[in-house]
Amino acid sequence: MTDLLLPDVELQTGTLDFLKAGPKKLFINNEWVDARSGETFETLNPATGEVLAEVALASEADVEAAVQAATKAFHEGPWSQTLAGDRARLLFKLADMIDEHADVLAELETLDNGKPFRVARRGDLPYVTKHLRYQAGWADKIEGSTIPVTFPNQFVYTRREPMGVVGAIIPWNFPLLMAIWKLGPALTAGNTLILKPAEQTPLSALYLADLIVETGFPEGVVNILTGPGLPTGAAMAGHPQIAKIAFTGSTEVGRKIMEAAANSNLKRVSLELGGKSPNVIFADADMNAAVRGAQWAVFSTAGQECVAGTRLFVERSAYDEVVDGLKTNVEKMVVDHGFAEKVHVGPIITEKQKDRILGYIDEGVKAGAEVITGGEPVENDNGYFVKPTVFAYEDDSLSLVQDEIFGPVAAVTAFDDWDELVQRANDTMYGLAAGVWTRDVGKAHRYAHAVQAGTVWINGYGMIDPAAPFGGYKQSGFGREMGKEAIELYTQVKTVWVNTK
Ligand code: ADP
Repeated sequence: MTDLLLPDVELQTGTLDFLKAGPKKLFINNEWVDARSGETFETLNPATGEVLAEVALASEADVEAAVQAATKAFHEGPWSQTLAGDRARLLFKLADMIDEHADVLAELETLDNGKPFRVARRGDLPYVTKHLRYQAGWADKIEGSTIPVTFPNQFVYTRREPMGVVGAIIPWNFPLLMAIWKLGPALTAGNTLILKPAEQTPLSALYLADLIVETGFPEGVVNILTGPGLPTGAAMAGHPQIAKIAFTGSTEVGRKIMEAAANSNLKRVSLELGGKSPNVIFADADMNAAVRGAQWAVFSTAGQECVAGTRLFVERSAYDEVVDGLKTNVEKMVVDHGFAEKVHVGPIITEKQKDRILGYIDEGVKAGAEVITGGEPVENDNGYFVKPTVFAYEDDSLSLVQDEIFGPVAAVTAFDDWDELVQRANDTMYGLAAGVWTRDVGKAHRYAHAVQAGTVWINGYGMIDPAAPFGGYKQSGFGREMGKEAIELYTQVKTVWVNTK
């Protein structure tokens, strides 16, 4: 298997050992098992198109086995008796283990997802453990309240209890981070978990499984099933014994998960979905910062981020300056494989997704949008690369302005007045995030209040923190991850009445 590796890349022994260890199995009840059907799929390196590993494909029978293990662990096993502080201790220990294995995990992210290694190692990995530790800190602070009711002699209090078996279905853009975003609060609150990583990027979650065993989590608490949306994800979404699905992914699949929840056991659902976020530059902004901010708002992770600031609105008097600055900066960005020393933009996750992005670019050109820079694939052996692309446009109804492309494509337009700006910025079915650049504090806050988005950055873009609630307005989903709100997503309130007389 070593011949799959990029020529000038020296990987950690741990990474090589993991890749060479042969086909990857399902992780159920702290054991590695083959899929009951014997089916497998391949996970590819998007920088080369080569196969990284063969992975077990879970179907209904495997989901059933995982549900049984997780249900047993929730009701009967040692986990059901674990005190909050002990859960926290295990999660803190897992965070330490992840830190110890961070080099290997970051290499697996770069191999499987394509993102620059520097970003995986210095961005994703530290954030994974910050998140885990932050959430673990809540374990012994999940409190109820006492309620002064209208009846005499009644003492009424609430408890915040775990839900049971939680299913987490996650995307490929931040594989380990998304896994931990769900695992952290779900286990902190006392649930058990079935995690399905995206079929494009299963490796870091599978590596995590061994760390979970080594940390000492009891059997059945975390189960990891690999496979595509159909059948694996759908079998989870429709399973009557899964109490909640926490999902991050496309709006289209989010809708299917809600349907499956409605048609099975009315399981709880939290959805973090797509975005088409507006980023606004007023003429009084610090232009250097705004242009750089606008650039990274779209092109980090090759535009494959749900918060990407893909619609850039510029006050007309600053328009030429912003477009020129953006063009200059973007043309300096290095597109290459994730281990290349100077890389800024890695590959697109799959060939299909690359073709989809190029399709949007084609449509944009045909519909009359002007290409400022980019607009082409990058000639490369077999990997899936697209040049960072900036379009200028006027017509808000273009598909490239309305659809989430999930690629390195920015669309920039000029605006003349406040009402026009607010109307156009909100003219989308999405509402995940927004940015605004101005030196006028009042205007910045006015805009932050007017824009329909779950997160607004003023004179910055893209920061997400374990302590700051994060989630969508409109069809970008519902439920808030991060912060104390994340614990609320994984617990339910029980009200207890005590007759004191
Ligand atoms: P993306 O567009 O980012 O790939 P998707 O919404 O297609 O996002 O996928 C996100 C996650 O949802 C992946 O783990 C995928 O396997 C899963 N998924 C896809 N289709 C379904 C489905 N019908 N039911 C449940 N999960 C699904």
